[in-house]
Amino acid sequence: MSNCIFCKIIAGEIPSYKVYEDEFVLAFFDINPVNPGHTLVVPKKHFANIEEADEETLCQIVKVLKKVGLSLKKNLGAPGYNVQVNNDPAAGQIVPHLHFHLVPRADGDGLKLWPQKKYLETEAEEVLNKIKIT
Ligand code: 5GP
Ligand code: ZN
Repeated sequence: MSNCIFCKIIAGEIPSYKVYEDEFVLAFFDINPVNPGHTLVVPKKHFANIEEADEETLCQIVKVLKKVGLSLKKNLGAPGYNVQVNNDPAAGQIVPHLHFHLVPRADGDGLKLWPQKKYLETEAEEVLNKIKIT
């Protein structure tokens, strides 16, 4: 996609700190990291979100998440990492090219994950009936 910033990074038109690259996937540093080593794992083909992407591409991305996650643990000493996709603008997606955030964590880094709630009385069944895949 001609005006997509990540397509430009993939094409080499915009520089990036590349962590890993293969035929299907590029992994590069986020320009504004949550923690140092925060990496974006993206398909080389432009897809807006998870639903648009084909299964093969998604499998290739997960393989790369594992590779980069291992490197963050082994070489950066991260005791763990978060994987996050902001899937669509309603979920906070700003760059409209599918990307997985891989955020290395440090003990006591103070990063708070999202707040959780309780289900109301019959809410779990109602929601399940709507979304259950049979
Ligand atoms: P989103 O909110 O779409 O999930 O996150 C987009 C991410 O892309 C942000 O964390 C932002 O810092 C990163 N980003 C935006 N523009 C650039 C860029 O030109 N280069 C790099 N390396 N990262 C970018
Ligand atoms: Zn793109």
